[in-house]
Amino acid sequence: MQDCIFCRIVSGELPASVVYEDELVVVFKDIKPVAPVHLLIIPKKHVESLWALQDEDALLAGHIQLVAGRVARQMGLEDGGFRLVCNCGRDAGQVVWHIHYHLLAGRPMQWPPG
Ligand code: AMP
Ligand code: ZN
Repeated sequence: MQDCIFCRIVSGELPASVVYEDELVVVFKDIKPVAPVHLLIIPKKHVESLWALQDEDALLAGHIQLVAGRVARQMGLEDGGFRLVCNCGRDAGQVVWHIHYHLLAGRPMQWPPG
């Protein structure tokens, strides 16, 4: 996916502040953070959105959650906690069409979100 910015980060064509990487996912700092900790967890595989996940992606979807918990623990977020958000579609505000999970932490957050 040549025109996908997150695929270009996966391939190394676009720079990013990568904090974790394995064979399935990359975790990097959001370029416009909305919290003191704002990471994006993305699969290396191009999947447009949560809707586009297939049965064969079950392992990948689970892996993303495991990585979120692990990275959060490694960053010392166990005390204050964190929020994991996947914006799916227009009303949720999805602007990048390569599935990604926002890991937000470092300040109290509102519920419900705006
Ligand atoms: P969403 O609204 O869920 O699609 O969020 C997309 C997120 O990607 C936003 O928080 C952007 O700040 C972030 N973003 C876009 N381009 C980059 C980039 N090159 N590096 C890091 N984060 C980015
Ligand atoms: Zn992509």
